[in-house]
Amino acid sequence: MAILRRPYYRDDFEIAIICALKVEFDAVEALLDEVWEGNGSHAYGKAPGDPNAYTTGLIGKHPVVLTYMPGVGKTIAGNVAASLRSSFLGIKLCLVVGICGGVPENKSDEDDEEDDEILLGDIIISTGIVEYDFGHQYSDQVVRNDNHKEILSRPNHEIRAFLAKMGGYRCRTRLIENIPLYLADISAKEGFGTLRYPGADQDKLFEPTYIHKHHTSKSQPVCVDCKDRYDATCDTALGLSCTENGCDDSKQVTRKRLEKIKHAVGGSGASLRALEGEMGIQSPQIHFGAVASGDLSMMSAYHRDKIAAQDNVIAFEMTAAGIWDAFPTVIIKGVCNYSDSHKNGVWERYAAATAAACMKGFLREWITADKPVRRDAVEVSNDYLHFMNLWSSTLAMITQARFSGKRP
Ligand SMILES: [Zn+2]
Ligand SMILES: [Zn+2]
Repeated sequence: MAILRRPYYRDDFEIAIICALKVEFDAVEALLDEVWEGNGSHAYGKAPGDPNAYTTGLIGKHPVVLTYMPGVGKTIAGNVAASLRSSFLGIKLCLVVGICGGVPENKSDEDDEEDDEILLGDIIISTGIVEYDFGHQYSDQVVRNDNHKEILSRPNHEIRAFLAKMGGYRCRTRLIENIPLYLADISAKEGFGTLRYPGADQDKLFEPTYIHKHHTSKSQPVCVDCKDRYDATCDTALGLSCTENGCDDSKQVTRKRLEKIKHAVGGSGASLRALEGEMGIQSPQIHFGAVASGDLSMMSAYHRDKIAAQDNVIAFEMTAAGIWDAFPTVIIKGVCNYSDSHKNGVWERYAAATAAACMKGFLREWITADKPVRRDAVEVSNDYLHFMNLWSSTLAMITQARFSGKRP
C-alpha cells in the first residue's frame, strides 16, 4: 500500500520540514514512517545548483521532504528556503521544527489562567511571526520596520483556518493525547533509550532581574567584574552553570503547574519523579501565539519581557524569519529555556522530541487538497486503453477463427 503514497515526481511533495540542529532533525527522522532514499526509483534528485541536503519519506499519510540547515540564522534559512523552492515546486506547507526559548507567561491566552504558564518541554505553535531585530537602532531604542512587519506578520488563509481548527477543543485535545504516544515511539528507537523528561526540579525560572553571574557562595566568591554592575556578567561566568556560579534557587519564580505536583508528594524528590510518570506531567502543553524570530539568541529576561509585552510573542527562535517569506510556514518548537541568561542545554533533547512528536500529530490532522488528474497520467491511461482495445480485437479474431476452423 505504501508505494501508492509515494510521489512519482519531486514536484508532488507538498510538505517540507526544516531543521537547523542535529538534535532537531534526529528527533524528526526518528518519527519517519518510511524513508525513500538511494538510487533508481527511490531517488527524487534536486534542481541544478541546489546545495541543500534532503531526506524524503512518509509521516502518517503525508509524503514529506526533510531539509537540513548547515547552520543557524535568518540568512542561512533564507538560502535553504530558496534552494528548496527551486527543487520542490509544489510545497504548500513548511514546518520549522525544533527547539526555542519560551516566554514564561503566555499573555495572549485569555481562556485559562493555568494555561498561561509556559514550562520547559511545552510546545509552541506559531500563529504569526515578529522579526524583532529588523529596524533602526536609535540612541535609546530600536524602532521596528513596520512595512516588513506587515509582510511577515501572519500566515495565509489556509494555514490561519487550519490553526483555528487545531486550537479548538477536539483537535487540541487529540493533539495533546497523541504527543506522549509519539514520544514513546521516539524513545523506542535505537539511540533514544535515554530520552527522558528531565524532571520538574530541573525546570528553573529565575526572577527577571536575577542575572546569571558570579554570586556569593561557599565555593565561589563574587568576582570584581560581576560585582561592580548589577547587570554585568564576566566572560567566565557566562560559560559556567547556575550551580557553578552560585545562582540562588530561592530567586526562582513559583510555577503553578509544577507546584501542584510538588505539593502532592510532599516535596520528596524520589516520589516526585515517580508521580511525574503517573500524572503525565511529562505530557507537554501546547501554546498558540506569535513567535519572535531573529539572528540574536535571546539571553536577557529584561529584553525578553520587553519584546513580549510590545509584540505579544510567546517564544524566540532563529530560523523562521528566513523561511516565512518563501513558503506558508508554521513553527512547531519545544521550549528548552526561558530566553534568559540562565539558559543551559539540559532540556534540548527532550524539547526537540516533544516538538517532533507534536509535528507528527499536527500532520495527522492536516488535509491535502484534491489534485486535478495530470496530463501525463491521462496519456498513460490512453495508452493503456489502446493496448486493451488491441488485445480485445486479437482475442475476438482468435475466437472467431477457432469456431470457423480457419487459422487466425
Ligand atoms: Zn564574574
Ligand atoms: Zn544562573
